[in-house]
Amino acid sequence: MLPLGHSSAGFLISQLKKPKPNLKEIIFLIVSANIFDLDLLFLYIFQRPLFIHHRLPTHTPLFGLLYLLIFYILLKKKFRPKIFLLSALAMISHLILDNISYSIYPSIVNHPIAWGYPFFDPGNTINNNLINLSSQDYKTEISTVTDYYFTKTPIVLYAEFFLFFLSLYIGYKNYSKRNKNV
Ligand SMILES: [Zn+2]
Repeated sequence: MLPLGHSSAGFLISQLKKPKPNLKEIIFLIVSANIFDLDLLFLYIFQRPLFIHHRLPTHTPLFGLLYLLIFYILLKKKFRPKIFLLSALAMISHLILDNISYSIYPSIVNHPIAWGYPFFDPGNTINNNLINLSSQDYKTEISTVTDYYFTKTPIVLYAEFFLFFLSLYIGYKNYSKRNKNV
């Protein structure tokens, strides 16, 4: 799934907080919902093919715990514990949404999220040797990504837009009333 879907999920999870979250909390939860795709940045910098990122340990709950720990150490004075709980939920939403692509299109996506890594990985998802592939051998430009989404996994694309429009609706509902009261 693309940042649009993950960010929308992060926003929707932020709206679970009562009273309403402030802007910093919303941004933190949107970042949490996208943090697993940080591996894309490293693959890009080190010129590795981007499509392998779901098959690295960086897309597992184990890494989520690591990210959560780092967030907690850095931001524990800024946010209440409840926000870190929602951050964990936002991270889980990322892996669930990524896994949905596999559930709908197992013959195209091939590998599920390795939920139990490093203890068990029945889908043979994690393959650290892939890091040795060179990106020059693969096309990973934006045009191939959008082409992939539009032609091969359209339901995932519709799901992204559904989450985005749901966020707009919930955001409008939750924040427009407040304006009226001002
Ligand atoms: Zn991802």
